[in-house]
Amino acid sequence: MAVDLHLHTTASDGTLSPSELVAKAASLNLSALSITDHDSFGGIDEAAAVARKHDIDLIPGVELSSYYRGQDVHILGYFVDYHDPVLTARLRYLRESRELRARKIVEKLSDGGAEVTWADVEKYAKGEAVGRPHVAQALVDRGVVRNISEAFEQYLGRNGPAYVPKYVLDLEDIFDIIHGAGGLASLAHPCHWGADRTVIEKLSDRGLDAVEVWHIDHSEEDIRKYTEIAQELGLLLTGGSDCHGTRKKHGFVIGTLDIPDEIIEPLRARATEIRTGHAAN
Ligand code: AMP
Ligand code: FE
Ligand code: FE
Ligand code: ZN
Repeated sequence: MAVDLHLHTTASDGTLSPSELVAKAASLNLSALSITDHDSFGGIDEAAAVARKHDIDLIPGVELSSYYRGQDVHILGYFVDYHDPVLTARLRYLRESRELRARKIVEKLSDGGAEVTWADVEKYAKGEAVGRPHVAQALVDRGVVRNISEAFEQYLGRNGPAYVPKYVLDLEDIFDIIHGAGGLASLAHPCHWGADRTVIEKLSDRGLDAVEVWHIDHSEEDIRKYTEIAQELGLLLTGGSDCHGTRKKHGFVIGTLDIPDEIIEPLRARATEIRTGHAAN
């Protein structure tokens, strides 16, 4: 059976609610899922209830951002205790910083003549992890741009006039927090910044446990290459579609990558090792 371990809901910048997403996964016969919202566990309880009903294995997950040598690097945390006080406190702080940043983006936009308000953005963020996609959506609604990609190209991207950097955690910090919450860390979509063997080895030395080998933006060649690198370095394999619903060009890609369910047990075993290792400390 197939699995999908990288999914976004309305708790961050996805367009499906947790229940809708899990129902979709059930209709596709997926055996395991992980909801990996940016900086939030807000979707997990609702998803877990629906997953139980359909006998789907729901693995608690989260996606955290960092910078490494000037690049945006995303780390997925799996099998974390999503009530862990350290982790939940850090996520809360990240979400608060996201709100301050999004308000600054709105300010820059309106100073520059693009008519958009914080209320427009808040309507989509729904009090959870607000991000640029919500601002992009507001710009589309207001008719400032025609679509989300245009919003990123003209305003919100790295070189755009309304770009505001996001407060992020250090990579080491991320690895420690994830491990401290009994979870394991996987390098999300390495193709996005061309992470190579040397870099992945450095990250592995610092605490990385796995590499996201299957991803909607990975070619067959990427899958082969990253599987090889991970295996050489003794890292585990993860995979997911990174489905965001309608806010990303690929659309509803959940379950489309045929990711084998054999990846789950080694991941679960590693998480158990991490947890018992911590308990013994
Ligand atoms: P943020 O975390 O607020 O900086 O927003 C980053 C999120 O925006 C990513 O996780 C993607 O979901 C989305 N994103 C980034 N670039 C684009 C783009 N060009 N078009 C659509 N969505 C994008
Ligand atoms: Fe996203
Ligand atoms: Fe990501
Ligand atoms: Zn993602």
